[in-house]
Amino acid sequence: MTTDVSFDVVVIGAGPVGLACGLEVQRRGLSVCVLDKGALVNSIIGYPTNMEFFSTPELLEIGGHPMTTLHYKPLREDALDYYRRVAQAEKLTLRLYERVTGLEGEQGSFTVVTEKGRIGARFVIVATGFYDAPNLLRVPGEDLPHVTHYYKEPYAHADQDVVIIGAKNSSAKAALQLLRAGARPVLVVRGPEISESVKYWIRPDLVNRIKEGRIGCYFNSTVANITASTVELNTPDGPRTLPAQHVYALTGYHPDFRFLATLGITCEADAAQTPTHHADTLETNRPGLYLAGTVCGGLNTSRWFIENGRYHAQLIAARLGGEAMPKLPDVLQPVQFS
Ligand SMILES: Cc1cc2nc3c(=O)[nH]c(=O)nc-3n(C[C@H](O)[C@H](O)[C@H](O)COP(=O)(O)OP(=O)(O)OC[C@H]3O[C@@H](n4cnc5c(N)ncnc54)[C@H](O)[C@@H]3O)c2cc1C
Repeated sequence: MTTDVSFDVVVIGAGPVGLACGLEVQRRGLSVCVLDKGALVNSIIGYPTNMEFFSTPELLEIGGHPMTTLHYKPLREDALDYYRRVAQAEKLTLRLYERVTGLEGEQGSFTVVTEKGRIGARFVIVATGFYDAPNLLRVPGEDLPHVTHYYKEPYAHADQDVVIIGAKNSSAKAALQLLRAGARPVLVVRGPEISESVKYWIRPDLVNRIKEGRIGCYFNSTVANITASTVELNTPDGPRTLPAQHVYALTGYHPDFRFLATLGITCEADAAQTPTHHADTLETNRPGLYLAGTVCGGLNTSRWFIENGRYHAQLIAARLGGEAMPKLPDVLQPVQFS
């Protein structure tokens, strides 16, 4: 079957890093199309309402476009507005709500197969992030309608019992917001304490609310079963049954390894199942196919984020544009984000 249209480069994923890749290769005179299975910056759309980024605005910028915010740190809404404006200003060719399902051919003559058509590309960049695949609890009841792996806002839960599973930033912020919106939040934590990785300005607030008894908390505990109105726990003091009208399982996310395999990308035998790629060029085991952004870290989803992942765009664009590889800031060295 023939292709609908051809580009020098197709980028899969219109997140911050995918957009950065698109504009950097376009600036080198290559034609590019950025595809997403959902909306523009689909992952950020899924973040909590009014979520404050941990990064200051200049660290989230792409293509040298200044990001503005009325706050010290940008909100989700600032970022949504910013990345849309950048995509428009750069006149990027976007194909949204079009899921990529396969990749045929080889370097120089790839065919990107989507749900809606076939697109020719000399090179392909995969910037698909990690936010679509939650780490499941794998307990009965996890698929009930009042159980979700994505937290949006607290207002629907006033005067309700809400169980939150997890002890990192997302859980901490959700528990505090729920408390202040009149819900009765209870945290279930697998380890002995609230994670040390919770941001230093959030952790004391949560720890003190737990000490006061305003936020319930079960440490060293796991979920055994979820019913329509309860969560059953295994705790160090034996089984416990908590009332719950809503359950947030905020236990993290992972890249879609099945999709990567479909593209022919193998994984390393390390603990993070790192998708195979060359550290200097970001080219995968399939020549002409590149990785960028969070997806590069495999299960280590805090290895690459916007602050450092955005530099992947410059590396790949320089290579595809036939330039000398740029000297990049130390931010590409390992850092801990959360
Ligand atoms: C709550 C939260 C707060 C955060 N705060 C910060 C922060 O303050 N600073 C920071 O630097 N980072 C932060 N991060 C991390 C950061 O948001 C992510 O690392 C960032 O979104 C990564 O960008 P990306 O472009 O690599 O991936 P994403 O933004 O996840 O984009 C991937 C895109 O690929 C698309 N896609 C996936 N599969 C397909 C397919 N088969 N076909 C087509 N499209 C597909 C998705 O729809 C998505 O739009 C935060 C993350 C979370 C969850």
